[in-house]
Amino acid sequence: MQPFTDFKLDLETFISDLNALIEINHKTITDLLAVPEKTYANFVRPFDLMEEDLELLFTPLSHINAIKNSPESQKVYAEALPILTDYSTFIGQNLAIYEAFKAIKAREYDHLNTEQRRILDLNILHFELAGAHLDKASKERLAEINLRKSTLTNDFSQNVLDATNAYEKIIIDTADVEGIPEGDLEDAKFEEKGITKYRFTLQMPSYIAYMTYGPNRTIREELYRAYTTRAPQNGAIIDELMALRQESANLLGFENYAEYSLASKMAPSTKSVISFLNSLIEASRKQGMQELEELRAIAPEIDLQSYDTAYYGEILKKAQYDIDEEEYRPYFEQRSVMEGMFTFLNELFGIRFVPQEIELWDEKASVYDIYEADTLTARVYFDLEARKDKRGGAWMHNFQTHCEDTQGCTHLSSAFVVCNFPPSSDTSPSLLRHDDVVTLFHEMGHTLHHLLSRVKEHGVSGVNGVEWDAVEFPSQFLENFAYEPKVLKLFASHHQSGEVLSDEMIAKLIRAKNFQSGMFMLRQIEFSLFDFELHSKLYQGEEIQKLLDSIRERTALIKPPSYNKFQNGFSHIFSGGYSAGYYSYKWAEVLSADAYYAIVDEGVFGSELARQYKEIVLAKGGSQSMQELFTEMMGRECDSKNLLRLNGIE
Ligand SMILES: [Zn+2]
Repeated sequence: MQPFTDFKLDLETFISDLNALIEINHKTITDLLAVPEKTYANFVRPFDLMEEDLELLFTPLSHINAIKNSPESQKVYAEALPILTDYSTFIGQNLAIYEAFKAIKAREYDHLNTEQRRILDLNILHFELAGAHLDKASKERLAEINLRKSTLTNDFSQNVLDATNAYEKIIIDTADVEGIPEGDLEDAKFEEKGITKYRFTLQMPSYIAYMTYGPNRTIREELYRAYTTRAPQNGAIIDELMALRQESANLLGFENYAEYSLASKMAPSTKSVISFLNSLIEASRKQGMQELEELRAIAPEIDLQSYDTAYYGEILKKAQYDIDEEEYRPYFEQRSVMEGMFTFLNELFGIRFVPQEIELWDEKASVYDIYEADTLTARVYFDLEARKDKRGGAWMHNFQTHCEDTQGCTHLSSAFVVCNFPPSSDTSPSLLRHDDVVTLFHEMGHTLHHLLSRVKEHGVSGVNGVEWDAVEFPSQFLENFAYEPKVLKLFASHHQSGEVLSDEMIAKLIRAKNFQSGMFMLRQIEFSLFDFELHSKLYQGEEIQKLLDSIRERTALIKPPSYNKFQNGFSHIFSGGYSAGYYSYKWAEVLSADAYYAIVDEGVFGSELARQYKEIVLAKGGSQSMQELFTEMMGRECDSKNLLRLNGIE
């Protein structure tokens, strides 16, 4: 067995080390391609493993640049990126590699195991989705389309950005800002000629702050109108982009862009995605209408409009489920949360976390080895507290991957968990919000997906090769347990008095989570369905608005004003990576809710299905489609009823 790779980074020599490694890789590829009788063992295996060396070198740099950012790390990082891009372009366009994969598949496929077949299939798919199998003329046209698409998507987001930055609303009358939280108000406040004024913009969180707390309805509408009419010139970009997406999908042999998108995802067919989304509309509508009635009841004097819902929603939420975070924090002391989470994971999966004394990049960072029974399995690094030089947010970053090398030697996995929790000091502990606990569980879900892999092939081990619409399944799955009373009671005790969080306080957390969940669900489905239907056939000009309107007939309980052109700012699908993929959020949530309740209904601890989850979903990583793994674990297809249960929708 190969020992863990030490975490080390030398910024001084990084670029020359990287260039040296890439040169070795180029030479390896030349040698591999020269092998006369190519087989899985002598070609695919070594090719796949080259990726590991590159990750081991590059991950420490990207990690340090994110968590101990400095001008030096930025400089080296910026210098490294184009080197890596060049290298991956070289691989992606290397048809000799593609031909070698195909030849090996034709000769050996029947004799390979599931993991090896998956490696071949995914590599070939990757080449073909980029057009490797097309004739010369089609390839040229595809390259033209891709170039034009990247200009259009870039223009789209630039237009949104410009429109967002071009607008501001100055408020002078303090009555118009009454009720807005202190922090938001501080951000908005400025002095001009001795007068205090407030500036609200279309940027987050300024826009959200006024829409949620701003008492002046006319100003709310003004902001809302400005927001939903941004970048009208994007209408023409959408038309051209949709035509190009349709054309490229056709060139690659697909009926439409939605089909092209699903080729690398877990969802089996466009029909299955659409019927899944439709079923959620049916199930959530009744509750959504009730929630709207409740909202109307607290504002009987007005005809409630789109720009009122966040404002009255906040008032209703305060009245019904006001959660005082400060009341909860003392129950979530960081160290006891960590200890409790380890105990929970031990109960659920039989894994032990053993702290290691290793010097790291910051004294607050820590490292643990994970054992299954007495077998060393993986290593995990935690860097949980906020710092000036750390990027915001929370994430899991995989470092080493469980695999077997060409000598048959096993490599163990490792990963980093990064959060931005309140810092602790010698005199005061780090007290978390409940949301932080949820975040920690979420990232730990991703982490275990990577760490508990038993796959031998690097490219489909852990989170490698996992379908895009399944990636959030393990994280959302684990996150759900942060609301489970049996789990919370393991660690949620007051850091001074030792008193355990009461059932009533836990129930309150769950009720607050589910506040207006019907309306929220409908909104998410509206985005998802619009995105997916739009990519299912070619829509142009007014047809696009008509499509959106027809979906809103079923999802929007309050009809948005006719000036609302939300699509012109829908960057996720027109300039981000979510085109015909926005449904993935809900898709993964359904899997996670279904698996979660299966385990809760078995009493959580000692659950047989929890073992199955570990042995099948986690251990097999990306080596099979999640569709197959899920069915194998549950012994049945996924049932969306449990998503409704999780959201408190009857
Ligand atoms: Zn996630």
